[in-house]
Formats: sequence, C-alpha cells, structure tokens
Amino acid sequence: MKAIRGATTVDNDEAEEIRKSVKELLTEIKVQNALKDEEITFILFSTTDDLHSFHPAKAAREAGFFVAPLFAAVEPEIDGALKKCIRVMVLTESDNVPKHIYLRGAKVLRRDLTNIINIALDGPAGSGKSTVSKLVAKRLNILCLDTGAMYRACALKCLQQNVKPTDEKAVNKLISSINITVKHENGVQRTLLDGKDVSEEIRKPEISMHASTVSALECVRTKMVELQRQIATKTSCVLDGRDIGTNVLPNAHFKFFLTASPEVRAKRRAEENLQKGFNTPYEEVLAEVIKRDNQDTTRKIAPLKQAADAVLIDSSNMSIEQVVDFILNKIQEKI
Ligand code: C5P
Repeated sequence: MKAIRGATTVDNDEAEEIRKSVKELLTEIKVQNALKDEEITFILFSTTDDLHSFHPAKAAREAGFFVAPLFAAVEPEIDGALKKCIRVMVLTESDNVPKHIYLRGAKVLRRDLTNIINIALDGPAGSGKSTVSKLVAKRLNILCLDTGAMYRACALKCLQQNVKPTDEKAVNKLISSINITVKHENGVQRTLLDGKDVSEEIRKPEISMHASTVSALECVRTKMVELQRQIATKTSCVLDGRDIGTNVLPNAHFKFFLTASPEVRAKRRAEENLQKGFNTPYEEVLAEVIKRDNQDTTRKIAPLKQAADAVLIDSSNMSIEQVVDFILNKIQEKI
C-alpha cells in the first residue's frame, strides 16, 4: 500500500470553490500518478477549521470518485498554520513511486516538490561529500550532481592527449572541443567524455591530482560551471563540489560545507581506494590530501572556501548517517 499526499487552498469558504479545488486536486493526483479508480483503496481528507460550507468527501463523489471509501476530518487550529487548506491522503495499491501534489496556496507546504531546489555541498577531498550527497539526494528523490567528475574528465582528456594540465594554452585548445556530459541511470551518475562512459576510469587515484591542477585554469572552470548551472536550473539536485555555494550557485537554497581533519580524510580515502582495488599507503594518501587541499584553497579562481551562509559540518567524529540526518533536518526546518 502506498500513500499519495496532496493539499490545496481556497480563497473563500464557499461551496463552489471547495468543490472546484477538491476536484482539481484529486484529478491532478490521479493523472500525475496514472491511477485507475480501482487502484484507489481509500481517500482521507482533512480541512482547516475555517471551512464549513462544503464537505470535501461530497466534492470527491461529485467529481466522479465513486469507488473508494472516503473519510474527512477537521484539523485542530494551529497558530501560524496555512488558512483555508484542504489536505488529502490517497491510499493506493499501485506500485508506482507516489507523486505528491501541492496546489495553489498549499505549494508553500512542500517547496521541495513544487519548486526546483538546489543544495550545495562543498568541502575538501575525503570529507564524505560524495557519499553524503548521494544519500541526501536519494532521500529527497532528486538528482545528485558530482561536479568533481567533470574536472576529472578534463584531466583524463589531458592525459589521453599528452597535454600537461599546467599548460594553459594547450588545455584551452583541448577544452574548446571537449564534450563532457552527465546522465543519470537509476539515480547513479555516469560521466561521458566525448561520448564514452569514463565513470570508472576517472576514479583512478592518479587522476585526482591532475583534476585539481587542471581545475585551477579559468578556461576549464568557465566551461564546467556553465554546464553545472544548466543542469541545476532545470532540475532539483544536490551538487557536490568545491565552489558550488560560493561561485556556481551563490543563491542555492541550502548550503553546507563538509570537512574533517586531514588525517581522518586520508584514512577514509585510503580505505576507499582499497575497496576499488588500489592499494595506496596511508602516508602517501595523507600527503596528497594536504597537497590537494593547498592547491584547491589557494588557487586564484573560485578557491575551495566555505560560503559565508553555508552550514559548517565537521564530520571527523560523525558517521555518514549522522551527517545525512543532520543535513535533512536542516532542510526540513526550512521547507
Ligand atoms: O571531488 P573530487 O575529488 O572528485 O574533485 C577532483 C578535483 O576537482 C578537486 O581536487 C578540485 O580541484 C576540483 N573541483 C573543483 N570544483 C568543483 C569540484 C571539483 O575545482 N566544484
């Protein structure tokens, strides 16, 4: 059994308005969720106690919802709550992922569903950003955009073409014709370089340092940032990177800066490398983490930095689940 939720509001406590709004809400729920009448097990309504002129269940029957049992209740009056609001819960046997519907004034109840939201999650290497971003995106049912993968793809292209990532002129030429795209399959990002899926290849440890070097170049950043903004304006997503909150999306709805001590981060990276089959000694990883931090924080263009309005999270003594819950709670407080 699945529950589809929805809400709408009316301007006036008038029968005709309530009738129209309930019909609009239930029809939208039915259409958006591709529901057949026989798949609706139960419809539950609640209305704020400033609505008296028409029964929402009666409106549902009039709108053609004949089969499902209906129930309606009045909500207690709560200070600051939305006025003249009709809420509904449709219980269904359908296997589809529920699409909740919020219309009219009730849109403010679920900004996450009705508007595009962008969540910036920045931080240094090994802070747990990518794992946390994926989990947060999954829980909110939105995309996760790993922006580091794009810089990694640039670095891979330089390696393939024997171009030094410090040679700005040569990189500029290469970047003008590079084709980097991302696609999401079952919520997992695949990164394509000139049409070829390089998602695994760009994770090789030797790519990390090259990515950091090449990402300091203006021509590279301009192209990647443009691509990131294009994606973020079209769809709700968590963007994991270094400069999302400060540069790519300074107006992101939520900003977090995730960090941890270099030692903790190096330990995590070494373990992660091992899981991927790369046995890199801890001392080596630590040295690279420190070098990459230094390179990323001191570069001239869009350096790694906490945005003034980002929430700082030090994950040194936190589990992944704790970080994810912390972020989701912060988001929930605002929407
Ligand atoms: O996050 P990841 O380790 O995959 O990033 C690789 C490199 O790409 C980073 O060290 C950083 O220099 C660069 N990067 C960046 N801006 C981003 C994401 C990554 O400069 N938004």
